[in-house]
Amino acid sequence: MAKILAIDIGGTKTEAMLAEVTRTSHSYKVKILDKNRTITRGLHRKEFLKELKNLMLETNVKKSQAISISIPGYEINNKVVSSPNVKAIEDFNLQQWVKTNFKKKVFIENDANCFAFAEAKLGSFKKSKNLLGVIIGTGVGLGIIINQELYKGFQGIAGEFGHTVIVPRGRLCSCGKKGCLEAYISGPSITRRYIEAGGSIPSPDPLKIWKAKKRDVVAGEVIDETIELMSVAFSNLANLLNPEFIIVGGGISNLPFFKEVNARMRKYTMKSLKTLVVKNTLGDDASILGAAILPVK
Ligand SMILES: [Zn+2]
Repeated sequence: MAKILAIDIGGTKTEAMLAEVTRTSHSYKVKILDKNRTITRGLHRKEFLKELKNLMLETNVKKSQAISISIPGYEINNKVVSSPNVKAIEDFNLQQWVKTNFKKKVFIENDANCFAFAEAKLGSFKKSKNLLGVIIGTGVGLGIIINQELYKGFQGIAGEFGHTVIVPRGRLCSCGKKGCLEAYISGPSITRRYIEAGGSIPSPDPLKIWKAKKRDVVAGEVIDETIELMSVAFSNLANLLNPEFIIVGGGISNLPFFKEVNARMRKYTMKSLKTLVVKNTLGDDASILGAAILPVK
């Protein structure tokens, strides 16, 4: 049994959870002892780190043996080199900051990797060997599970699905490139596309746009394009890796697009390919649970 302080840094909020994690041969048990959250959207580094430190102290960091952080980006040589949706930690040695402040072991992992690992080990699909976990929220991330292990790639960057180009020379993305999938199907991108197309719903968000799709022509077009791009993008994943399931999490997974996307994917997938796109089973807690169990060997 290990006591882990797990942290999930997101585009809107940051959460901390103190948990007792027990690993048996094939699964994990997690007992949550304490959990807190704070809004961190748009904070600059200094204020962000102050909030993070307070949150960790509030969540009894002193009682933990190790600290494990889920980030919406990735690090190379202990430095977060890319985190387009939380700029406060980009080009920053978060590991060193945590070590200096709390003198504990630190683990840092991409949020979609944490999400996919939690769904594979604690969720309803844990009997499956090959799974993909896609988070569609402020950004778009992917975690790849092959033979029940997390696949990280040559430099640990594998899974940057949101920044694969779906429209050459298309919309500008938060990463600075053009035409990325994230620039079309993330929550803020759906809303922006609706506003730019002349949509008239006041203070629109993806759920309001979804609900208006039958009576509002612009909403109908934006949702149809979103479903089409998701179907193409998920088909590319299915053709590439042929997982049993593509599990979707993040705010956009609350839109009921699953039946339509699975049907449309058949236009793009190989004959007899059976990969299914499904909704997550752990809800908003998946990434933080993944962070809690990942370091426990
Ligand atoms: Zn991008």
